[in-house]
Amino acid sequence: VPQYARPLAQLIESLERLPGIGLKSAQRLAFWLLQADDESVQALAAAIANVKRAIRDCSVCFNYTDEDLCPICADARRDHSQVCVVADARDLMALERSGEYRGVYHVLQGLLSPIEGVMPDNLRIAELLERVKKGGIAEVILATPFTVEGDATASYIADLLQPLGVRVTRIAGGLPVGGDLDYADQVTIARALEGRRRVGADASP
Ligand SMILES: [Zn+2]
Repeated sequence: VPQYARPLAQLIESLERLPGIGLKSAQRLAFWLLQADDESVQALAAAIANVKRAIRDCSVCFNYTDEDLCPICADARRDHSQVCVVADARDLMALERSGEYRGVYHVLQGLLSPIEGVMPDNLRIAELLERVKKGGIAEVILATPFTVEGDATASYIADLLQPLGVRVTRIAGGLPVGGDLDYADQVTIARALEGRRRVGADASP
């Protein structure tokens, strides 16, 4: 690593920690910032500082929001009797961008992983049960990933929901990862939702 002035070296180091950013990209970004006008750099710095302050969890579904309710929970045109359970807000965005889903969500904020120390209490599972117990929910769609952790989390939640008498289904395939969804991803999501199957004690479709 070349000898940079300390503030510049610190900036490069910070940028390098961002996902998908290697040393070369970090250097390019740092030099761009040095040459950019003050106003743009201040605006970027303020946006970064503000996002942690202004963004919180939706009080119902735990999606990111800057108000008490996220825009989806606040939308009366959505079907509030159908709740899709996702691992994180990225999966929620994938479903939203596909335009195939009209219900609401519940964001777990992770997946069960005893190896990494993620236990049920670390996720928003208790809050999901409370939501279902309050009534008004006809179906819970488990849309966690098709991985060991995703499957384990789905079956753990399904077992807890069973006694509550709500219809529990599992999507038919994994969700595409990443923000840029193309048409193929949209088809994948549509099929995963359409092909969802009932899980639990009486597993009739
Ligand atoms: Zn919400």
